[in-house]
Amino acid sequence: NPVLQLENVHKTYKPGTPGAVHVLRGASLTIERGEVVALVAPSGAGKSTLLHIAGLLDGADKGRVLVDGADTGALSDRRRTAIRRRQIGFIYQFHHLLPEFTAEENIVLPQLANGISAAEASARARQLLDTVGLKDRADHRPAAMSGGEQQRTAFCRALANQPGLLLADEPTGNLDPGTSDVVFSALMTLVRETGLSALVATHNLELAERMDRVIELRDGNLVKR
Ligand code: ADP
Ligand code: ADP
Repeated sequence: NPVLQLENVHKTYKPGTPGAVHVLRGASLTIERGEVVALVAPSGAGKSTLLHIAGLLDGADKGRVLVDGADTGALSDRRRTAIRRRQIGFIYQFHHLLPEFTAEENIVLPQLANGISAAEASARARQLLDTVGLKDRADHRPAAMSGGEQQRTAFCRALANQPGLLLADEPTGNLDPGTSDVVFSALMTLVRETGLSALVATHNLELAERMDRVIELRDGNLVKR
């Protein structure tokens, strides 16, 4: 099964009011296992909306969202939440790390919540930090790290529970161009080493070109670029 399928997805905010915004108008997309896809569009085009629907954080008005072949609209809330927690990792523009915990603890916590033992969780956290070049930052709190280091730590946290699909919303949008490049490379290393599939929204075309495939969100539809 493909990791993610969107079929004819529609989304309107404030439907039936003068302020209605028809953001998605029949968007369709298939992501195969191991594929890393760039989603490009200008600000306001609906990238966040699309990612939230793909990540089961918001529902579509019409159309289907299939994760690993399962039609998520046909599932109970409980099953849908389980899929979201176990199979999907989400990365935002801002890291949202917990300030009172170290880098390692931030990556350990979601694993403990998933029933992983403390020793195993710690080993995985350190291995992930090593992959993104942050082995020596494991015991630092977010405030003691640079913006790029914070974001790389957030990537590790998103992958802590080994999701099959990663959804990233402008993951380097908050960083200066030089840092962006380092952080993006770290993300690609993580994705490739773990065999992840990913959908990465960006308005940086240079970064987009480094992924397997680029799709564009235009007038509420997804088109090949
Ligand atoms: P992007 O991520 O590409 O910047 P968004 O998905 O955030 O785009 O937003 C797409 C459009 O939908 C924008 O016009 C935005 O103002 C509008 N929008 C997003 N979320 C909401 C919401 N909760 N209520 C009303 N309008 C929204
Ligand atoms: P992004 O930077 O990813 O495009 P935004 O800053 O557009 O995100 O949106 C942040 C949050 O505000 C989202 O949850 C989105 O749904 C909501 N939002 C965006 N635009 C509007 C809007 N016009 N009215 C209400 N909520 C909105």
